[in-house]
Amino acid sequence: MPASTAGSTQAMQTFRVLPFAPPPGSVALREEIRAFIAENMPHMDAPQRVNSWAVGNREFSRALGRAGYIGMTWPKRYGGRDRHPLERYIVLEELLAAGAPVGMHWIADRQSGPLILRFGTEEQRMQFLPRIAAGELFGCIGMSEPGTGSDLASVRMRAVRDGDSWRVNGQKVWTTNAHNAGLMIALLRTGEAGGRHEGLTQFLVDLTAPGVTVRPIIDLAGGHDFNEVFFDDVLIPDTMRVGAEGDGWKQVTAELSLERSGPERYMSCFGLFLTLIQRAGANPDAAMTGLIGRLSAELWTLRQMSMSAAAQLAAGNDPMLEAAIVKDLGNSFEQELPRLVQAAADADMDLSANEDFARLLALLLQISPSFSLRGGTREILRGIIARNLGLR
Ligand SMILES: Cc1cc2nc3c(=O)[nH]c(=O)nc-3n(C[C@H](O)[C@H](O)[C@H](O)COP(=O)(O)OP(=O)(O)OC[C@H]3O[C@@H](n4cnc5c(N)ncnc54)[C@H](O)[C@@H]3O)c2cc1C
Repeated sequence: MPASTAGSTQAMQTFRVLPFAPPPGSVALREEIRAFIAENMPHMDAPQRVNSWAVGNREFSRALGRAGYIGMTWPKRYGGRDRHPLERYIVLEELLAAGAPVGMHWIADRQSGPLILRFGTEEQRMQFLPRIAAGELFGCIGMSEPGTGSDLASVRMRAVRDGDSWRVNGQKVWTTNAHNAGLMIALLRTGEAGGRHEGLTQFLVDLTAPGVTVRPIIDLAGGHDFNEVFFDDVLIPDTMRVGAEGDGWKQVTAELSLERSGPERYMSCFGLFLTLIQRAGANPDAAMTGLIGRLSAELWTLRQMSMSAAAQLAAGNDPMLEAAIVKDLGNSFEQELPRLVQAAADADMDLSANEDFARLLALLLQISPSFSLRGGTREILRGIIARNLGLR
């Protein structure tokens, strides 16, 4: 396994593997999505083909939406296709393996849509889901604030009742995709905190509403993925409240299993792995054969675990423990891969190099530390795992 600590060995013994079979027609579906990608994927420079779920392209998302590859598992009356979650999984892994630019719609498809489907009103479902499924409306997650990251229960940004609306002031931060999104699902404080997890409510926020300002944050590698979002007397109609007042914590934790268990949690460096194999050629030496074999075995194991979590979600369970394990081990794999490749390969690391391999390696060595921060840090995930194992 990628991380061979005693804790992760024990966690593995507790991982509930749900037997799952590929749905009928999955071979044909895989062919179908590969053909779609070959026909529709825009030219992407090599560094854009890794971590590509953070790379957005409006036209490509629209094309995916038109072809029925967004909101695939949602009911047809909301613009979905009633497909099986494991069929969706096949589509996602093919898109990630190809390095397709799926960042524009990724959050709405993975998280915002399913949240609206589960906790939203019928009006909200009809208003938002068809546009998300069509690749026309993109989402972002408004959880973190300055001073609130791991400890989400410490959210301070407040929504105050004002007639039929809620008046909101404050700031969200690290908001991925807010500069492209029309919709934010914001976690806001609506009541006095009795217990730490009380008094929180989720809202659908129209990011074009008066008083909303989105400012870019440029990361260390020069990329613009995330933002600060300021709210200055923003009025949110009560009809845009998701679920009951005070139910925000319960809903947010349900959302996190969707956020943590998918193939994006171990495939961010897949393009480098493919390039490594191509570069090794037909007769790799023993060390390279060993490295490729090791990485393949880890990748395959992570895939089985992640698909099993998808099967749990399909069966109506909440695989919170399994999702935390997939993310922790998957992120360890994604961070180790560029380091192992760097140690094994004789290549200059240079973002401006001619060789794709050197540019990919340089980029991934720079950005991979963030993989175990986004979506919950390693320490927080291990705390969840320990609690579920009865260790704390
Ligand atoms: C690329 C990227 C994209 C992101 N996108 C979004 C987004 O779209 N929306 C959004 O809302 N947020 C987003 N985030 C924010 C992300 O969720 C937070 O960075 C993360 O939850 C950690 O919070 P923090 O940065 O405040 O660090 P802190 O919570 O301050 O943690 C600092 C360190 O202390 C450790 N620590 C904290 N609490 C404990 C504890 N109880 N036990 C042990 N160790 C602990 C942490 O593990 C970490 O190592 C993104 C972050 C990144 C890097």
